[in-house]
Amino acid sequence: MTNPRQRASDHLHTTGISTQNATNLAHSGSSENPLPIQPDDTLPIFGDGLVGINKDGNINFINKTACKLTGWLQSDAENKPFEEIFQLSDDSSETLNLKLIQHIIKSGHLIAPLAQQVIKTKNNKKLHIDFSISPLDGNTAIIMFHQLEKDLTNKNHPLLYQVNYDPLTHLSNRNALQKIINTLHDSAQSQGKTYSILLLDLDHFKLINDRYGHDTGDQLLQLVAERIQFVIRDKDTIGRWAGEEFLCILPDADPAIAAIVAERLHQCINKQCFHLNQREIFLTASIGIASYPNDGTCPEELFCIADATLYEAKQNGRNQVNSSKGLISSIFTVGNQLEQALQNQKIISVYQPIFDIQNGVQIAEETLARIQEDNGDLIEANHFIDAAVRLQLIHRIDDQVIRQTITRCCINAADNKTNFPHFVNISADFLRRPELIKDIFDFARKEFIAYGLSERKNKPLVIEITEQELLHDIEEVKKLLAPFIEFGCELAIDDFGSGYSSLTYLADLPISYLKFDGALIKRVAYEDRARKIISGIQKLAESLDLITIAEHIEDQATLDVLRELGVSWGQGYFSAKPSI
Ligand code: C2E
Ligand code: MG
Ligand code: MG
Repeated sequence: MTNPRQRASDHLHTTGISTQNATNLAHSGSSENPLPIQPDDTLPIFGDGLVGINKDGNINFINKTACKLTGWLQSDAENKPFEEIFQLSDDSSETLNLKLIQHIIKSGHLIAPLAQQVIKTKNNKKLHIDFSISPLDGNTAIIMFHQLEKDLTNKNHPLLYQVNYDPLTHLSNRNALQKIINTLHDSAQSQGKTYSILLLDLDHFKLINDRYGHDTGDQLLQLVAERIQFVIRDKDTIGRWAGEEFLCILPDADPAIAAIVAERLHQCINKQCFHLNQREIFLTASIGIASYPNDGTCPEELFCIADATLYEAKQNGRNQVNSSKGLISSIFTVGNQLEQALQNQKIISVYQPIFDIQNGVQIAEETLARIQEDNGDLIEANHFIDAAVRLQLIHRIDDQVIRQTITRCCINAADNKTNFPHFVNISADFLRRPELIKDIFDFARKEFIAYGLSERKNKPLVIEITEQELLHDIEEVKKLLAPFIEFGCELAIDDFGSGYSSLTYLADLPISYLKFDGALIKRVAYEDRARKIISGIQKLAESLDLITIAEHIEDQATLDVLRELGVSWGQGYFSAKPSI
């Protein structure tokens, strides 16, 4: 794919004018020195309008086609601010502006993509154009444009620029990246070639926005976009995938080449600080790699693997490059197994008792998902939950497990066995599906009526959310959880201590239970620091009237320490394994 920079330079070459000559022309036509050479004597008439603009925004040369199209005489147009010649029409989307031109001159390597714009000619007629902007040197940019058929610009055809490019960084946007990778995939597949994608995420970028404000955050993204363009190969494409995530598409790159480019990208962010508004800002990045055909057979599978490897890089402490090493490819094997299990009602629930740590009496239980194999063996959730999240199947698992838990609540209560809380894990994917939640509540209401529990305001159902699931937007989380609270469910934070910002969640959400991260609990009897951390969180939880639950209690020593620290409840293999 040629980019507009390539096109602009090709254009000059095909007309016999080297970029250097054109640069000289541009120089000689700076606003300080009136043009010694009439550009139209030198530049032949192109099919396109061609206009040179200096960094003050003044026109230093204009060709005949541009004059014809805009209705201006060359002598009138030269040295005028370009906005006088390229007057924006009322229905313009304001793509073509001085800021963009200056940005392109300053960066020297960022080329405006082909974009559309409505301008007014000298005679006040509307002119629909598409244009590209290329830097010639540190002082000048060239706008190339031509008239568009009107029907291309009516409201049913969104502007190409908006459709394909990110307005902040001027890189390809997600939509364009998807198209590029689909085209690349088709040709790689038919020619038996390889290619790779890199997903780059700036670490802790939210903190930058919080600390310096969103304007600085935006400027920083622009600087990052400029910097990473330097280190990729000419044939590579880099674009903005989402927020602070960039996607790099590398044609003809096998895993080894992809790893080299990824390392270069990683270093270009980490090695040098960014200078912005008299500040030095240090950034790091995490990068996930996926290669065709090693990691997947189609772009969707590669996105999935790139996302998974990036996620793993983040989990392993950020600031690193990570590739699948073949391991994550098993996602698709697990995915197939999951699909089958979902279709054949083979997702089943097991229940792990939760005890009062002080007296050892069972006081609650947690439901955990399992896949039941044909031979009756059960596959533990930690073997398939990650794959389920990546393949967007997790909401279907949650749906089945919650229904089973609701029925279990009712049967237990009806047997007069117990009315204790039943804990169930819920994913963010499930929380974001109101239609599923509504169905669940309809189902729960019927079940509670059938078992005579409908009168109870507080339902014996506790929703467990992990810190990872609680994304950054606390207001969104509150909204997502509201229907559950309204229904009478309680909330628990699972794996507390394994993520970030947990304290904010405690302050802002109506949490009733706090479950300590199992990895921390395993160390509590053996490491003084772990013990101090649990002790500190326990005190905090007590002051907030939260019930604390320790997971992964595997021996007597751990149980004794937790009892001493005053942790309320516990679960673990030492007391009882999850069972049907
Ligand atoms: P979790 O909710 O923190 O569940 C505790 C995990 O620790 C369970 O693993 C449980 O079997 C295991 N466990 C219990 N006692 C011990 C112990 O003494 N030592 C050790 N090492 N492990 C113990 P499991 O069932 O494999 O689940 C793993 C994770 O998968 C869960 O962690 C939960 O985050 C997720 N999960 C499980 N079921 C579901 C589900 O239905 N929906 C969703 N969204 N996530 C689920
Ligand atoms: Mg849990
Ligand atoms: Mg847990």
